[in-house]
Amino acid sequence: MIAIVGGGISGLAAAFELQRQRVDFRLFEKSRRLGGLILTEDVDGLIIEAGPDALLVQKPAAIELCRELGLNDHLVPTSPPRTAYIVRNRKLHPIPDRSFLGIPLTMTALARCGFLSAVGKARLAAERFVTPRTSAEDESIADFMQRRFGREAVDYLAEPLLAGIHAGDVKRLSMQALFPRLPEAEKQYGSVLRALGKTERPRSAEGAFLSLDRGLGDLVTALERALPGSAVEREAGVTRIAFDATSRDYLIHTARREPVRARGVILTTPAYVTGTLLQDLDPHLAEHCRAIPYVSTASVSLAYRREAIADPIEGVGFLVPSAERLHILAASWVSSKWPGRAPPHLALLRVFVGSARDTEILRRSDEELVRVAHEELSQLMRIREWPSVTRVYRWERASAQHDVGHLEHVRTIERKLERFQGLTVTGSGFRGVGIPDCISDARRTAELTAARICTSR
Ligand SMILES: Cc1cc2nc3c(=O)[nH]c(=O)nc-3n(C[C@H](O)[C@H](O)[C@H](O)COP(=O)(O)OP(=O)(O)OC[C@H]3O[C@@H](n4cnc5c(N)ncnc54)[C@H](O)[C@@H]3O)c2cc1C
Repeated sequence: MIAIVGGGISGLAAAFELQRQRVDFRLFEKSRRLGGLILTEDVDGLIIEAGPDALLVQKPAAIELCRELGLNDHLVPTSPPRTAYIVRNRKLHPIPDRSFLGIPLTMTALARCGFLSAVGKARLAAERFVTPRTSAEDESIADFMQRRFGREAVDYLAEPLLAGIHAGDVKRLSMQALFPRLPEAEKQYGSVLRALGKTERPRSAEGAFLSLDRGLGDLVTALERALPGSAVEREAGVTRIAFDATSRDYLIHTARREPVRARGVILTTPAYVTGTLLQDLDPHLAEHCRAIPYVSTASVSLAYRREAIADPIEGVGFLVPSAERLHILAASWVSSKWPGRAPPHLALLRVFVGSARDTEILRRSDEELVRVAHEELSQLMRIREWPSVTRVYRWERASAQHDVGHLEHVRTIERKLERFQGLTVTGSGFRGVGIPDCISDARRTAELTAARICTSR
C-alpha cells in the first residue's frame, strides 16, 4: 500500500493515478474537506472561488484530467473581450492583445501601452539590441527584466504580472524556475522580442484559460467520486513518519490511532509541513524542505448591483503595480471573466491583498479588508454603493515561493530522498506552482513511487 499525505489537488491527482494503475493506496487529509486551496462556494446564486479559478490551456495536464473525469462538457473559456488592465496614475490601461506575459510583441502593441511612459517604451523596444548574457546562472525576475527591458518594465509589467501571479517579490522569485521560456529565448535568439516575434502565435479564439462552469470545486468533487471512499481518510492529519527497518515499512502516525504501515509514501503537503513530517527520518532533508518560503494572501469577493458601477466592466480585471501605492494587488471582474457566475443584475468582483508586498494588511479584520477592497475599487471603477454580498478567504502560508536557486535546492532534496526507497515529495512547494503543474508532477511522482516499490519487492 502507498500512503498519500494531503488531499489538495496534488494528493488527489496522485491518488487518481495510483487507482488508474490499480495500485493500493490510502490518502490522509488533515481537514474535513478535500481540495486544499481549491474551494468553490455557492452564495445566494453567486459562484465564488475562494482560491484558484483558472486552468492555463498551454499546460494541458489539468484539462486532460477534467476530460478523464467526464467533465469535458463543463469546461468553459473566459468570456470575450479578454482584456486585462494595468493601473497607472489611478487609471486602467489595457494590456495590448498582441503581447506575451504583458510584453508587447509588435510596435503597434507597444505604442498602445498606456501604462508605460515614452521613455519606458523606447527602452523596452531597445531589447532587441541588448547583448545577451552568457552566464547560465539563475537570476531574479527583476534582474532579468531590468537587464533586458529596463526599469519601467520591472515596475509596470514584471512586478504586478510575473511576480503578481505568484504573490511574490520580483527581486527574489526565480526566472529559471517560473518563466524558463524567457531566458531560453534570450539564449537561443539573443533577444526575447526577436524570439517571441518568431515563435509566438496569435492567441487562440478560446483564450489562454479555461474553468469549469460551476467552479473548480467540481474538479475536486469529480476526483472524490472517482476514488474509493474507503481509501480516503479526512480529519486524519499525519503527525510524523517513521521507518521500520525490519519490515522495511513506513509508519504513518496520525493523532487518531495506531500507526498505519505503508510500502511507499507520497507527501503532497506544503513543503514546511513535509519538512516536519520528515524530521525523524532525516533532519537535514527536513531542514531543506522547511527552507522553501511561503507567503500569505487573502481574496475578497464583492457583489454589486450592476447599476452601482459607473465604469464599463469589459474584460477580465486589472493588476496594480506596487509603485501605485494601493493595498489591492489585483482584481478579477469575475462576472465578466466567466459565464454564469452571477445573476444578470449583479457584478461579482474579486480582489487580492497581502502577499510578499504587503504582509501588514493581513493582520486586519475581515471587515477592514472588505472596507479597503471596496474603497480602492470605488476609486478605480467609480462604484457608488456598498456591495450587497461580501466574502473574505484567508490563505495563510499558501503560496510557495520559488526563489532564485529553487531548482538547485529541489535537486538537493531529490538527491537526499534517493536513499529512502518509495518515499517521494510533490505539491506546489517543489516542482510546479499552478494547478496544471501540480497535477502533472503528482501523477508522475505517483507512477515513479509505484514503480520503485515494485522493484524493491
Ligand atoms: C488565492 C490563490 C489563487 C490561485 N489561483 C490559481 C489559478 O487561478 N490557477 C492555478 O493554476 N493555480 C492557482 N493557484 C495555485 C494553486 O491553487 C496551487 O498551486 C494548488 O492548488 C496547490 O495544490 P497542492 O495540492 O499542492 O497544495 P494544497 O492545496 O495546499 O493541499 C495540501 C493539502 O495538505 C493538507 N495537509 C496539510 N498538512 C497535513 C498533514 N499534516 N496531514 C495530512 N494533510 C495535511 C492540507 O489540508 C491540504 O488539503 C492559486 C493559489 C492561491 C492561494
